[in-house]
Amino acid sequence: MKDIKRITVKQLFADCEGLTGSVVDVKGWVRTRRGNKHVQFVALNDGTSIKSIQIVFDLSRFSEEELKPITTGASIHVQGLLVASQGKGQSVEIQADELQIYGTADPADYPLQKKGHTLEFLREKAHLRPRTNTFGAVLRIRHALAFAIHNFFNDKGFYYFHTPLITASDCEGAGAMFQVTTLPLSDLPRTEDGAVDYSGDFYGKQASLTVSGQLEGELGATALGAIYTFGPTFRAENSNTPRHLSEFWMIEPEMAFYEIQDNMDLAEEFIKYCINYALEHCADDIQFLNDMFDKELIERLRFVTHNDFVRLSYTEGIKILEQSGRKFEFPVYWGVDLASEHERYLVEEHFKKPVILTDYPKEIKAFYMKLNDDGKTVRAMDVLFPKIGEIIGGSEREENYDKLMGRIAEMNIPMKDMWWYLDTRRFGTVPHSGFGLGFERLILFVTGMQNIRDVIPFPRYPGNCEF
Ligand code: ATP
Ligand code: MN
Repeated sequence: MKDIKRITVKQLFADCEGLTGSVVDVKGWVRTRRGNKHVQFVALNDGTSIKSIQIVFDLSRFSEEELKPITTGASIHVQGLLVASQGKGQSVEIQADELQIYGTADPADYPLQKKGHTLEFLREKAHLRPRTNTFGAVLRIRHALAFAIHNFFNDKGFYYFHTPLITASDCEGAGAMFQVTTLPLSDLPRTEDGAVDYSGDFYGKQASLTVSGQLEGELGATALGAIYTFGPTFRAENSNTPRHLSEFWMIEPEMAFYEIQDNMDLAEEFIKYCINYALEHCADDIQFLNDMFDKELIERLRFVTHNDFVRLSYTEGIKILEQSGRKFEFPVYWGVDLASEHERYLVEEHFKKPVILTDYPKEIKAFYMKLNDDGKTVRAMDVLFPKIGEIIGGSEREENYDKLMGRIAEMNIPMKDMWWYLDTRRFGTVPHSGFGLGFERLILFVTGMQNIRDVIPFPRYPGNCEF
């Protein structure tokens, strides 16, 4: 091997012309090998790009024996001259000069030996699926979106605020919680009335994994002005749907002095920014997914970024659903918690645009949402997306201490450990708003994938917690 610096496949394609005629050094995993007795072609991918680089092995220089270990999945190191390609399908190729084999992948055992595996099959091989073109594309887009999110908020002067993953508050009501304990499960200490005695537990009280960082986020917003959280959340809900995970990532901006309109404006600008960022920075990966899975993907992404979201009240939405003449699985009436089929009817069939639905009945929303003057609805806003349904849930928060306490009493919210939250309303309370975006739902939309289990490297859902 000559002493040359490795170049990634992404860098190589970014500067094809400049590099043509020079000797390059590449390392990666073999996608395919084909050819004849005179020449062998290897597609090499190193994960930096959806594109693989073609490597040409001349059998006058390499023996068949030397090339034998180069099977799908093997890892190799190659040096050679970068030349314009004779063949179709690629602009440049490397004429191999030096070969080093890092690791073989026995075709008899390697699970990704064949091409064209179903997504269901790959879910069973989640430890290796990042090596496929599809998951490479999805995971690079996931990275780009995470980066875009930090960019967006940083540029706007929001502070990244870290809220705890372990929490003692259980009143958010967003979903069932996973408990965190060091108590001996086979011999739980009990109080006199038979309940579990948590006084000897790690925190001296019952603790859980968080379902949302919002309540703590409000503490940040009412101090720093505008914050956002971006971290994992955990919900022990038994929702075996293509849109729910038990461990997912959420972005939760929370802003002092924002009212519901400001909140909606921010949500719309934010989502459009993220989609545009992906279109701009992940063009190859999105094109690949468009061609392989969803021929309307790029068109749909452009459409969403180029059009205003429809804004209408829950009450108006219910009227449209009632007058639709459509027979839904779950009946529609004022007061119902909208199901995904209702949300998608509004978005995909009626408006054919993303919809921000506002002013929901207070009974179906969380205690902290600001009560409207009608006494019946709260200043909630859900952003509903084609193919996804709810992608964002948010609201203007109730900033009035007495009204908030009224809602807490009405809804029997267990507030015993929530004095800290109430203090935001006791000391220097301000109008404020925020929302939560499910990161994986955004990725679903941007990649056109159908199942949320395919947009996170290691999905957690009921019955599945491998590695
Ligand atoms: P849904 O009705 O779809 O279960 P939700 O009302 O429970 O959603 P929120 O509590 O408002 O959702 O959470 C904010 C956002 O987090 C949602 O808009 C959605 O994008 C995302 N989200 C909620 N639950 C899950 C989950 N189990 N898996 C992945 N994302 C989720
Ligand atoms: Mn839910």
